[in-house]
Amino acid sequence: MEKISVAVRFRPSTALDLPEDRKWRVEDNRISLHLLDGTPISGVSFAFDHVFDQSSTNATVYDLLIKSIIHAAVNGFNGTAFAYGQTSSGKTFTMNGSEDDPGIIPLAVKDIFHTAQMTTDREFLIRVSYMEIYNEEINDLLTLGNQKLPIHESLERGIFVAGLREEIVNSAEQVFELIKLGEANRHFGETNMNVRSSRSHTIFRMVIESSVKDPISSGDVSNADAIRVSVLNLVDLAGSERIAKTGAGGVRLKEGKHINKSLMILGNVINKLSENGKQRGHIPYRDSKLTRILQPSLGGNAKTSIICTVAPEEVHIEESRGTLQFASGAKRITNCAQVNEILTDAALLKRQKLEIEELRRKLQGSHSEVLEQMILKQRNDMHKSELDRERLAMELEEERKSREALEHCIKEQQKKIDNLTSLANSSSQTRSSAKMADLRNTSDEVIMSQEDVFKTPNFKEKPNDFVVKRSNCSRDLESSPPPDNFANIADEDLWMRLNKGCTTDLDMLQMTPDMKCQSYLSSDISVGLALEEEISNKGRCHSLETECGFNKQLEASKEQCAALERECNLLRGENASLMHGLSMSKQDVELLTAEKEELLKELNIERQKMKDLKEEIHVFSLAFSQREGLLTSLYSKSKAMVENLKASQVPTPELYDC
Ligand code: ADP
Ligand code: MG
Repeated sequence: MEKISVAVRFRPSTALDLPEDRKWRVEDNRISLHLLDGTPISGVSFAFDHVFDQSSTNATVYDLLIKSIIHAAVNGFNGTAFAYGQTSSGKTFTMNGSEDDPGIIPLAVKDIFHTAQMTTDREFLIRVSYMEIYNEEINDLLTLGNQKLPIHESLERGIFVAGLREEIVNSAEQVFELIKLGEANRHFGETNMNVRSSRSHTIFRMVIESSVKDPISSGDVSNADAIRVSVLNLVDLAGSERIAKTGAGGVRLKEGKHINKSLMILGNVINKLSENGKQRGHIPYRDSKLTRILQPSLGGNAKTSIICTVAPEEVHIEESRGTLQFASGAKRITNCAQVNEILTDAALLKRQKLEIEELRRKLQGSHSEVLEQMILKQRNDMHKSELDRERLAMELEEERKSREALEHCIKEQQKKIDNLTSLANSSSQTRSSAKMADLRNTSDEVIMSQEDVFKTPNFKEKPNDFVVKRSNCSRDLESSPPPDNFANIADEDLWMRLNKGCTTDLDMLQMTPDMKCQSYLSSDISVGLALEEEISNKGRCHSLETECGFNKQLEASKEQCAALERECNLLRGENASLMHGLSMSKQDVELLTAEKEELLKELNIERQKMKDLKEEIHVFSLAFSQREGLLTSLYSKSKAMVENLKASQVPTPELYDC
């Protein structure tokens, strides 16, 4: 376990004779805020691993803070260095530097190649990538248009940005060319470069793979298959100032929110990590792309340095205090870095090793730069094909998953539709049976109400008899309506008129239905009539109420049915669009499969080319050794001839003169 190293760097002041009341003071590795008369302001004093004042150079920062991480990265440790601070505090100057004072990135790149060259017992494969996180989207800076890249995680590769271009490099100059390209892409379409640069995070990444060069002669046979793979991230973060200070609105405000969000999440992650191990709980790495990418560097398997840049001017004091507080939090994080050695095929070096070794062997003695370039190109092409294949495999997998999800969705929808259809059917059945029942009930009700009307208070049966009798008995007066016409009688007066003069002693009436009404033409008749009228009214009321209730029920079930039908239609529409989506995705899958096949073909062609190249090299070296043999034999022949000539000495002219 080791602590993250945290340093603070002040850039030179740009204040143009502005009156200042307070000043930062740097003493060794301490920073404190003082009043102009020298009085320290309480609570504003911080200590860090290093504090660099305005006179420090990038080389000093590199030597004291970054160099050890770079050397560790060459030896298989993951490493990360990032610059944090408000806009214009010197982050980019520290990371990139200038012509006269190269920054951490160029110094690190040179150092990596130099250290790799010095490590004679190992061979290296170095590749670089360069990305930008802008508005929570990851863009590839080495390939224009390669945008909105997703983050994936796999057992073999850990957390990685899928589809990011990785370029195999074998010199610092090549890396500088790529950085230039990345910078140009980064600012593409921007009118004000500084605005964008302070609104996005950039991650320059180098992946360093190495293995023992000659395990037999180095005596390290057990490690022959182990490949060290380390990832080095050099990060230039977006400005950490508050949105209010930038006076941002519109697009700038949106950017500011994303920046503030990701930096806030970075702060949260750091705060959580600085808590005591057991109380840490959940670390919100996944809440932002930045923290997700930097996950191994924060509290994980990496050596990490943070350089917090500070603008010394009085106007920036509040932002500077924020930066220093962030730095204090980061100081408490501990990481657990270890050499990453892998034995599987995950290492690119391992996958390419056989081919490279064979090529190297064949090219031994030949210093042709062109051939070296060709080999590098081949390697990059192979790697690119691999990345493409991986991307396609991932896309296929995603397509497959989404197709499965769609199919599942369709099944669910189908089930719902079936349920709804059966519900709608049963509901319409219920409705019609309800209608029928209603009709029946209504007529029953009418009959009932009629019955009720003719029932005695004791609800004794035989009302019709009574009515008939009553009708009969009132025949003399006026004709009584037949019972089945009663339902049509709405006129109470008519009813009264029709029934006037009927018997009033209901019990008696009940008991003596045959009694002639004439025998009861007494004062009780009027009471009986009133009572009958009341009963009749009550009955009608009850019947109307029930009818009303049924109507309401009917209305409600009609509405329910209509709603169900609407839902059914919606689901049918949804189903149709899902089916459409499915067929589209099937087409996509077909296209992707075709593309994959095309790529595989290309890969095979590349492989064939490589084979041909190897063949050519083989022929070339054969011819070379033949010529060498020929030359050697010619040389020995001519040497022998000279020897012979010398041996068979021809007499000199003086001898003849004598
Ligand atoms: P940032 O990336 O934090 O927004 P820059 O790195 O762009 O800030 O710095 C803002 C300005 O200050 C640039 O002109 C840069 O050259 C200058 N600057 C920053 N730090 C230093 C330093 N240590 N020495 C000299 N100039 C610096
Ligand atoms: Mg910058």
